[in-house]
Amino acid sequence: MDDDYDVLVIGAGLGGISTAALLSAHGFRTLVLEQADTVGGCCSSFRHGGYLFDTGATMVMLTLPLEEIFRRMGKNMKDYIELIPCDPIYCVHAFDGRRFALPRDIDEAAAVVASIAPEDVEGWRKYVKVGMSMLELLGEMMLTPANTMSETLRLYRRNPALLRHLPYILRTAQGVTLRWLHNPVLQSAVAFQAYCAGSPPDLGMGSLVFVALCEHLGIYYPRGGMIAIPEGIRRVGEEYGLEVRFNSKVEAILLEGRKARGVVLEDGTVVTSRIVVSNVNAKLTYLKMVGPENLPAWAKRAIGSYEMAMPCPMVYVGLDTRPPLDAHHTICTGHIDNFNKVWNEYYVRGIRPKGGGWLISWPTESDPGLAPEGCHTLNFVWGGPAPYALLGDNWDRLKPSFIEEALGVLEKEVMRDISDHIKVVEVSTPLDFERRLLSPQGAIYGLFLDFLSSAMFRPHPRSRVIENLYLAGASTGLGGGVPTTLASGVIASDYVLRDHA
Ligand SMILES: Cc1cc2nc3c(=O)[nH]c(=O)nc-3n(C[C@H](O)[C@H](O)[C@H](O)COP(=O)(O)OP(=O)(O)OC[C@H]3O[C@@H](n4cnc5c(N)ncnc54)[C@H](O)[C@@H]3O)c2cc1C
Repeated sequence: MDDDYDVLVIGAGLGGISTAALLSAHGFRTLVLEQADTVGGCCSSFRHGGYLFDTGATMVMLTLPLEEIFRRMGKNMKDYIELIPCDPIYCVHAFDGRRFALPRDIDEAAAVVASIAPEDVEGWRKYVKVGMSMLELLGEMMLTPANTMSETLRLYRRNPALLRHLPYILRTAQGVTLRWLHNPVLQSAVAFQAYCAGSPPDLGMGSLVFVALCEHLGIYYPRGGMIAIPEGIRRVGEEYGLEVRFNSKVEAILLEGRKARGVVLEDGTVVTSRIVVSNVNAKLTYLKMVGPENLPAWAKRAIGSYEMAMPCPMVYVGLDTRPPLDAHHTICTGHIDNFNKVWNEYYVRGIRPKGGGWLISWPTESDPGLAPEGCHTLNFVWGGPAPYALLGDNWDRLKPSFIEEALGVLEKEVMRDISDHIKVVEVSTPLDFERRLLSPQGAIYGLFLDFLSSAMFRPHPRSRVIENLYLAGASTGLGGGVPTTLASGVIASDYVLRDHA
């Protein structure tokens, strides 16, 4: 009997929708099953009281994977998505009271560094030199599979310069930061991005310190909100026959022996296909949708050993006035040692941290069309980890006090009388992220990322245990983030094409 589709994709997050669109463009009859009512998952937007808010991701950098997806589909990205550059890349509100904006241009940024930390200009220049040579290779690294030892060796053989950068991957983010920078304000401004990537500086990979540098290559906000990115990809996919079905929760992956043969929906409907791609957290994919009874013992142990990535609560505010901010993004940083303290003394013990750092995003600075005339939106992101399981408490009960706390920070960092101008407030706690996106523990980057859980140590995009099952999204490859999950879609579709074209 004929299958219903060639490919079923579970989840329309960035990894899922990009794999699906790419395979549609290659002639595969592809259906995406998404449990929510929009595309994008963490990179989506929702409307509330006349304001459009971004659910999770607040900006995109390293646009190469996005451009590559459109190029591979024979289209020009600019015809589908307008990316608005954000410059200054961000404004820093430092823990010692200093405030400064960092321009995108490296020389102009160096002048800012000289004004706040003259002792670090030389160190910062060295950091930039090493970082830029690493970033030159990043595009290829993101788009080339390095999911097995032989693929990784091939990548290094083709790019021997990568070997020079290995020490930065093996050292901690703290070690790499302190190697070049001595000024605590500058240290925390650089390490903050690594911290937001999901691990404390004394544990995270040193290479994450260069995330702050990626931003000098350009950070962008899509016109129409972050959802414009997955929507643009979906539109091209649909031009090639892609189907996307919303409000369709997949309960299980249908197996024939150890072969994927389709899915079973929550209401019992069976949809068959010869290929299944899961954009759902890998631990959930294997332990719930495939089922532990269908896994060999080693695979059960291996997938069970991954930790979830951190959750990150967010407060969305609609204002009736323009906030007096200096940039689309403002980071309020703590001391680098405080980042470690928040993780080691609060997060891992289930205690909600106070302080540490925040990110304030001001989307209407770039796209005023997201709010009624003269009005603005702010996203307040807890810049760092907040435990999912709270010791003796839970996020539903904490919601009002969390909102109050966030508004207190906005009063201090943005405007004293902000409360008089708030028309709408919404919040996503880790529990809300779990409910809305079915993301276990509200994890925002799939699985926790360190050296031993990245690239070839992360779940393989082509399942090693279930034939014709592929994975895309934050649980694979280089982990969470807009560019990396888009790249995961390119890689997953490449594996499918290699196996089935
Ligand atoms: C608060 C927050 C801020 C962030 N900020 C940034 C940022 O500024 N820049 C950046 O680069 N990255 C940022 N990120 C990370 C980035 O958004 C994510 O890593 C990326 O979007 C995840 O993509 P994904 O492909 O893994 O899919 P996900 O976004 O995890 O989507 C998975 C999809 O699968 C669906 N699904 C789940 N279970 C089922 C099921 N059983 N059946 C059907 N569908 C299902 C979900 O509804 C969802 O749509 C942020 C994330 C969050 C949450």
